[in-house]
Amino acid sequence: MAKLVGLYTEPGVVTEHPGYFDALKDTVGLTHILMAGYTLSAETRVKNPLPPEDAASVPTPGSDDDGELLRALDIAHGKGLQVWIRGWGWHGYAGRHPSMCAQDMLGRPLSEVPKLRYGLEQDSIAFCPNHEGLNEYLRSAYVEMIANYDVEGLNLSHCRYSAPSFLHTLFGCACERCQAVAGDQGYDFERMRGSALAFWDRLHNLDAATVRAANEHGWGLADVSQWLGVDTGLVDWFAFRARVITDQLRSFKEALVAAAGADVVFGTDTFPPSFAMLVGHNYRDFLSWSSYTSPLISHVEIFMLATLASSAALLCEWNQGLEESDALWFVYRLFGYDHLGLPETLDALGVGTPDLEACYDKIYDIVSLELRRGRLYNDGSIPSYPVIKGTTWPKATVQRLMQDADALGHDGIILQGTDSLLEYPGI
Ligand SMILES: [Zn+2]
Repeated sequence: MAKLVGLYTEPGVVTEHPGYFDALKDTVGLTHILMAGYTLSAETRVKNPLPPEDAASVPTPGSDDDGELLRALDIAHGKGLQVWIRGWGWHGYAGRHPSMCAQDMLGRPLSEVPKLRYGLEQDSIAFCPNHEGLNEYLRSAYVEMIANYDVEGLNLSHCRYSAPSFLHTLFGCACERCQAVAGDQGYDFERMRGSALAFWDRLHNLDAATVRAANEHGWGLADVSQWLGVDTGLVDWFAFRARVITDQLRSFKEALVAAAGADVVFGTDTFPPSFAMLVGHNYRDFLSWSSYTSPLISHVEIFMLATLASSAALLCEWNQGLEESDALWFVYRLFGYDHLGLPETLDALGVGTPDLEACYDKIYDIVSLELRRGRLYNDGSIPSYPVIKGTTWPKATVQRLMQDADALGHDGIILQGTDSLLEYPGI
């Protein structure tokens, strides 16, 4: 069976440059395009929980006119391409709406956390994923998108908590809604809160000499768990966060099956495997409901490097005497990045440098590592379609990663951009 080759695009690109897609069929074997451009009914729009003046900042807002999408669908299908319609989940503009924004363990909206040096995703914060009004709106929108358009699947993005470069996000959402859900599921919220706050306190009081010695001698998960006091409450907390995301997505799937049949193709992109649990993505759980996993490993700077840099910078800020190189090495080791030869200084790591990914010499090593982990995290019971950049990164890097994905047994690949692979006028 031919492997999937997908491309994130827009209806206007299809209608204005139909030949571009023929060229992609010839050069990379394009089989699928993923695009939005739908309208939503008045019945769904009235469910939008945001105030009318800011209604468009809801995840999956829909557009005013779907004419271009309908023309693009005809063109794509005429070329033998399949189309997945695109929607979005909780991570987004919640900072504008404190009552709906994810909150930390102290009841503070995460939008109120002071700006961090490398907190690249701090301006886009997740809504509480247990907000009933928002979830009802999203459910209606997704059902309409799959039922009202001639598409072969529904692909979501941003169905997660904020990225971990914004470290405080790990301790939300802990709002009253989420506390109630935790209780219903049998979790002891107060124990989880106590463990999380104690852990947070330990991160503020690390012994610099111990970090250095541990880096020198090497340590594993069992060592770190003892030293940092990872207890039942903390493990429960991360399990609960991921269960919230899984349960909501599964409930959306059930609504889609009811509307479009059991063979409906539905899934979301999945955070880079090494960091996935920190945004509530548990690959193992996804195997039980999703049509596929789709490791979103295209955002090396924002998702991977910024998490490493931000964590190391915060540990240095909080712990007197902790050397930057020791903090970085500690963080590299926590995420299994310590064998990649990454820099020993935050400046050399380069987060925030313009066009970093165009010239970063570790792009291949990092993406290749996540490709391998993404394949291992998915046991093969559902397909795996990693997302990589087809732009910004050098052509040889993109081509090598596509070959790696194939060789590793991924079931296809989804491209973000194609500049590195194909020069096409107007694109
Ligand atoms: Zn909440």
